[in-house]
Amino acid sequence: MTDFTLEKHDDGVAIITWDCPGKVMNVLTREAFSLVENMLDDCLADDAVKGIVITSGKPDFAAGMDLNVLAAVAAEGGDAPEQATFDFIMNGHRILRKIERAGMDPKTLKGGKPIATAMPGTGLGIGFEIPLATHRIFAAPNPKAKIGLPEILVGIFPGAGGTTRLVRKMGAMAASPYLLEGKTLAPEKAKAAGLIDEVADDPVQAAREWVLNATDGDIVKPWDAKGYKMPGGAPYHPAGFMTYVGASAMVHANTWGVYPAAKALLSAAYEGALVPFDTALTIEARHFTGVLCHPSSSAMIRSLFINKGALEKGAVRPEGVEDQKVKKVGILGAGMMGAGIAYVSAKAGIEVVLLDQKQEAADKGKAYSETLLDKAISRKRSTPEKKEALLNLIEATTDYQALKDCDLIVEAVFEDPGIKATVTKAVEEVVGEDTIFATNTSTLPISELAKASARPEQFIGIHFFSPVDKMLLVEIIKGKETGDRATAKALDYVRQIRKTPIVVNDARFFYANRCIIPYINEGIRMVKEGVAPAMIEHAAKLVGMPLGPLQLVDETSIDLGVKIAKATKAAMGDAYPDSAVDEVIFWMADEGRLGKKANAGFYEYDEKGKRQGLWSGLADQYPVAADQPELIEVQHRLLFAQVLEAVRALEEGVLMDIREGDVGAILGWGFAPWSGGPLSWLDMLGAPYTAERCDALQAAYGDRFACPDLLRDMAKKSQKFYKRFAPEAKAA
Ligand code: NAD
Repeated sequence: MTDFTLEKHDDGVAIITWDCPGKVMNVLTREAFSLVENMLDDCLADDAVKGIVITSGKPDFAAGMDLNVLAAVAAEGGDAPEQATFDFIMNGHRILRKIERAGMDPKTLKGGKPIATAMPGTGLGIGFEIPLATHRIFAAPNPKAKIGLPEILVGIFPGAGGTTRLVRKMGAMAASPYLLEGKTLAPEKAKAAGLIDEVADDPVQAAREWVLNATDGDIVKPWDAKGYKMPGGAPYHPAGFMTYVGASAMVHANTWGVYPAAKALLSAAYEGALVPFDTALTIEARHFTGVLCHPSSSAMIRSLFINKGALEKGAVRPEGVEDQKVKKVGILGAGMMGAGIAYVSAKAGIEVVLLDQKQEAADKGKAYSETLLDKAISRKRSTPEKKEALLNLIEATTDYQALKDCDLIVEAVFEDPGIKATVTKAVEEVVGEDTIFATNTSTLPISELAKASARPEQFIGIHFFSPVDKMLLVEIIKGKETGDRATAKALDYVRQIRKTPIVVNDARFFYANRCIIPYINEGIRMVKEGVAPAMIEHAAKLVGMPLGPLQLVDETSIDLGVKIAKATKAAMGDAYPDSAVDEVIFWMADEGRLGKKANAGFYEYDEKGKRQGLWSGLADQYPVAADQPELIEVQHRLLFAQVLEAVRALEEGVLMDIREGDVGAILGWGFAPWSGGPLSWLDMLGAPYTAERCDALQAAYGDRFACPDLLRDMAKKSQKFYKRFAPEAKAA
């Protein structure tokens, strides 16, 4: 069995069908690409073949390149990974260019064979770059299909000619949403935008007729024809100049300069626009090589594509536990979290019982789904029928008897152990013996809460992040007695609601909050020390954090910080390390500057709640010092505060798998995605340098930066996390 098959028909049309055996979606492998070339050579040499149609045997066309291949090519290059990668890319260009020239005479541009693509559904990445090299693209009117080049979203850019062809086809300005933002479109819209040529009920038939009737002129790409002018103007044209200057500024504003792929994409587009097409492809290949061999790209691919996918497919699911798919979920507490959890569950088709103390509160929780759905309808992302069906799945109630048939309970009542114990007992009186009970607590130890349960092996933490409908990560926390079935249930549930799970052991603040709190605290400490708040915020953004620590604490609210600080101090007693931070946030709270919700925090807000500049009054209490630290020092303090917690979590067995540490950090709190996550970042720095930096930071700022034993040991051995803890190393 092979990924591509060739059929030559009597009417002179050869059909090349892409159908990867045993896969739901076509992805391109190296072997398959040379197979396509052989088929192409065969058809071009065969006089009986008048034209070629490339299509798919699956409902979709193709999902793109197998990203595992891209990661492997550089690794296989040994001492010369860049050369191996460049050669690999150039070989791809050669094959695609052969499709595009289709055997025509290079001088007269005559005598080529028409080649069209017939897409039954989705075509992404190289699954759209191959069609772009053909002479005409037909797509079925499949509203679920997505067409485009989303490479930028995993830290690379379209490097199989997609960048060069799209810029030449549409112009840089028109191409920018597809290249720079990875925007994809359904077929009708893709046609209107000029990404594809035709939408046809039977795209293979339409393509077939087209290739049989196409003339020499029809198959010459504009950029190969004489007198080609780039739509929107080349970079040296006034309009083109404006486009590139604007795009460069826009990319920098969005990426703060930390994503190599965005910069390389712009360079490939700009430099490529100044030279002939084939040279442009070589330039694209050079920039693409740079991106693929950049440690950031491989780390992003590893975390955001390979490992995220593995976790979603159940990489850490306990073996041998039968399917635990949830049929009916009971949600206790219809507040902010409960309402969100009800929505995402019903959206996945799960029946929901949403319970609160008062009917009014339960109804309000259900109304939250209605609000989200109305918004989705107004944006044409849902329909009144879907809204009704989803709302029908949610029963808002105060009656515990309604929970009787639930196979999973998610508790999201107030963060109070007494109340949580009461509801746990009340639920266990009505539900079946097999029901799994999950708590959404963010701060209380799972093993302690499980004491209220008669079935602690069926008790687990399922920690959602706010806002539930937007956040992609769910943290599953195992208490001391949590059994495999509860873990499998939580994982199967998270899969049903299409989020990414990580599974961690029980410890203060679990994993995500454990790492993010020190980040916020480090920012606040610096305010107290006199570091300019603007420097703190910018240092964070320039190193890839989505929000500076002061903005983040404004968003989550200062009073929540005060509450957590008080509870942590009570639990830790003399060992509590953050009194310096408390002085600042307690003062802020006393001043009524509770953050965004109060329209006053570290930042100022206008009456509509829109964030303005940093609050100038802060300097009266904490004057800005005359001497300011180096940018890198501020960045290292902010990042080390987080990553050392991740290392400690691994050392203590809270984190059980480094993949979860990295994926969880990016999806859970936005840890500098360009780095691939905290452990990937440490691998880039190297353990010896990291240990040195820890020592220097510890000497300057205190023991919170002390080098963990694990890192010290890795430094001695010059080890990397992805070597020492690689899943395969574990299995060996
Ligand atoms: P919330 O105050 O918005 O909602 C709590 C709801 O529980 C209220 O509607 C309340 O009426 C209801 N409730 C209280 N006692 C009850 C009882 N005995 N029976 C039934 N319902 C009862 O709080 P929230 O922000 O939704 O947080 C809920 C839980 O989720 C807490 O444990 C919190 O720590 C956790 N959590 C919150 C966040 C967040 O960002 N807010 C994030 C993750 C986890």
